[in-house]
Amino acid sequence: MFIQSEAGFRRLLKFLRPYLKKLFWGFFSMAIYVACWPILAWLAGELIPKIGEGDFVKVIQVIGTALIVFLIQKTAQFFQDTILAGPALRISQNLRKEIFSKIQRVELGALEKLSSGDITYRLTEDADRIGEVIYKTIQDTLPCLLQLVAVFGYMIYLDWQLSFATLILAPLVAILVSIFGSKVMLTAERSQKQVSNLASLIGEAIQGLSLIRAFAAEKWMQERFNKEIEQHRKARFKTLRLLALQHPVVGFIEASGILAILAIGAARIQSGGLNSQGFSSYIAALLMVIDPISHLTTNYNEFKQGQASLKRLREIEKEPLEKQDILGAEIIREPRGEIKIEDLCFSYEDGKEVLSNINIEIDKGEVVALVGPSGAGKSTIFSLLMRFIYPQKGKLFFDGKEISQLKTRNLRKELALVPQRVVVFSGSIYDSIKFGREAKKDEIINSAKIANAHDFIMSLPEGYETQLEERGTNLSGGQLQRIAIARAILGNPSVLLLDEATSALDAEAEESIQIGLSQAMVGRTVIVIAHRMSTVQEANKIIVLDNGSICDIGTHDELIKKRGRYNDLCSRQLIRQ
Ligand code: ADP
Repeated sequence: MFIQSEAGFRRLLKFLRPYLKKLFWGFFSMAIYVACWPILAWLAGELIPKIGEGDFVKVIQVIGTALIVFLIQKTAQFFQDTILAGPALRISQNLRKEIFSKIQRVELGALEKLSSGDITYRLTEDADRIGEVIYKTIQDTLPCLLQLVAVFGYMIYLDWQLSFATLILAPLVAILVSIFGSKVMLTAERSQKQVSNLASLIGEAIQGLSLIRAFAAEKWMQERFNKEIEQHRKARFKTLRLLALQHPVVGFIEASGILAILAIGAARIQSGGLNSQGFSSYIAALLMVIDPISHLTTNYNEFKQGQASLKRLREIEKEPLEKQDILGAEIIREPRGEIKIEDLCFSYEDGKEVLSNINIEIDKGEVVALVGPSGAGKSTIFSLLMRFIYPQKGKLFFDGKEISQLKTRNLRKELALVPQRVVVFSGSIYDSIKFGREAKKDEIINSAKIANAHDFIMSLPEGYETQLEERGTNLSGGQLQRIAIARAILGNPSVLLLDEATSALDAEAEESIQIGLSQAMVGRTVIVIAHRMSTVQEANKIIVLDNGSICDIGTHDELIKKRGRYNDLCSRQLIRQ
């Protein structure tokens, strides 16, 4: 069961290495637990004939011993379950950790193919299921298997011929039961389908209540309804009759199997191959294998589901990782914030060129607006600058150095991204601005002041300690934007990559964001995906993108005069007044 392809559980065993000592004691307890089963079967063999003989003292002696064995067994089971639970939980925890850490390093483009809901499902539900399967395998499947081996071994030891007969009879009984059971279920399901008509008729009738009255169709409707419930009754009756048949038939098949074993056992006693004590032990042992078999079957089904979960989780591992920094990658020492893009071409996986021959030069401290219709390739330029994705052709430079030659983390520190849709994590406003970086409290407050967020934060009852709810639902859109600006400029980046919100907020919110932005832009190079007229008017340079190509570059006045693509965008109100 463990030896499976790469999606198998065997690869998880490496996580168990640090827990060998615990595992030893867990399995030691399991060995005691399992060993008690044949002892109990033997005691049953001792007990039953003594009950028949009316030997009360002996009966009490055997019962006392059995009680002690039970006590030992259950104690061992307790230790087995608790000791093994630790390592089992560790496996799923470590697996989750491993996959989550992988997600942090996977190439973003590759990850976007999976929806966030899907990834969440994999990391929660799938990982939980795997955890359960691992726990069950260690704490239930393994002891059941061992119990089966031990008890059946004892049965062979008692009488191998009878065991041989059992080995033939038991699967036969199981097959007959399952064939009959699945036939019954199939027929029952079929008749059950007719039942669904009733629900839809009721739905129709309730929806069309006034229409039925208006057309005086009550009688007609009632007759249709009566007919339907009659069919419903018949279908239900058929199902119930079949289910009623299932119990006696299955019971009969099982009873026949047991009776057959009793008959063979009687023949073995007569031929002298077995005594009555041994036979009693044998029957007790036989009863002891039924339970583990049923556990093993259910566990196997769960194991299969767990395997599918593991495969889904492992799929994330196959996604390509972000490119590693090249050997000797440089650190940006004195950042200026000059950006140059040279003959850049880019296409996503589908091969369609999203950017072609892009050439842009941006000086230190310049404000450049990217404008163009949705899908023109503006955000893709940001992603390329941030090294979320890599160009197929052409080069991008930061301060004259090709960005692939720089340390990526260092480059990203210099390029502060203010996304269109603000994402905040639950936690305090303070932590939200800090975002896991090294920063002193006054640096954080200073960033918030520049972003025009300090005053509103201080007006909240708990100030910087105000807890943001998931997705920041307890703040307004404008406030969140300002927190995002404060977060971006903490650490003093030399470049701001700004994606303006497409949808307009109310005038007051827009104005307060604008104040924050203007303050944040001071002394920085800014590239802004612009949707506001005020932004483009103030830009030193507007780059008009369409269909992945630059179709114009200039200032607002120059471009308006040209009456070209930019003029179109303005008149179609793609840039808000
Ligand atoms: P803009 O920001 O100008 O609206 P984008 O840069 O987001 O445009 O997208 C440019 C083109 O690339 C669009 O046609 C878009 O459908 C496509 N695109 C964007 N992201 C992906 C992606 N992850 N995979 C495939 N195609 C994408």
